[in-house]
Amino acid sequence: MSGHAAPSSYPRLSFDAQSRLLSTIVKRCAHRSSEPTPVVVFDLDGTLMDNRPRTCAIVREFAETLRIREPAIAESLALAEPNHLAYLLSDSMAALGVHREDLVVELQAFWRDRFFSDPHLVHDVALPGAVRFAHECYEAGAILIYLTGRDLPLMGTGSFGSLRDLGFPIGVPGTELVLKPDASMPDEAYKRLEAPKLARVGRVVAAFDNEPGNCNTFRSHFPDAESVFIDTQHMPGAPPLAAEVSVIADFRSES
Ligand SMILES: [Mg+2]
Repeated sequence: MSGHAAPSSYPRLSFDAQSRLLSTIVKRCAHRSSEPTPVVVFDLDGTLMDNRPRTCAIVREFAETLRIREPAIAESLALAEPNHLAYLLSDSMAALGVHREDLVVELQAFWRDRFFSDPHLVHDVALPGAVRFAHECYEAGAILIYLTGRDLPLMGTGSFGSLRDLGFPIGVPGTELVLKPDASMPDEAYKRLEAPKLARVGRVVAAFDNEPGNCNTFRSHFPDAESVFIDTQHMPGAPPLAAEVSVIADFRSES
């Protein structure tokens, strides 16, 4: 599993409609003293951040380990770029011309040990418009909750560092980084469990996620909030997206 999927089949908003949706959400972030503080919830992987460069870096490190014993394959794998990545590493390797079951198994173990750990998070990049949009929500008055399926023991400090280094609001009043207590819990179950607790922070006005199941969870817990699906990559076999969930490709907008 690598967190990458086939091209979209979701009905995305037009760029104009995406711009309008994002600016509506920023307006809803204005804090009125008579009401609880507005809260915006952001997932990290595949939502605010593109983690495909993380996988590419790991594939290239794996290629280095093959330099002596499989030089031709090492050369092919060293060329890994985000657009080669499929959801399965075996398909990603095939896209690079490598069809070796034994090496797929080896890469999977190599990848798993590195993908879900602090040091490799430095390779992640922000989605287009994401940093600016997060600042707009924050400066308009919202509390930002980064609610991620990454786990606290192995990915907590790296996630904090990555948010800081990419320029997202973090480490200031009104921002929270919330992670899974341990890696073994499935992401969807974790977010179903956490969603009701978000209300103690304030009034959720919008939630962004790249997993249809999570978007549906937010939609059902916070029917007055905008639940927004970021159409990047998601797990295969995801449930259908609830009709009220908006679909956008990234956080770019006109203004
Ligand atoms: Mg995600």
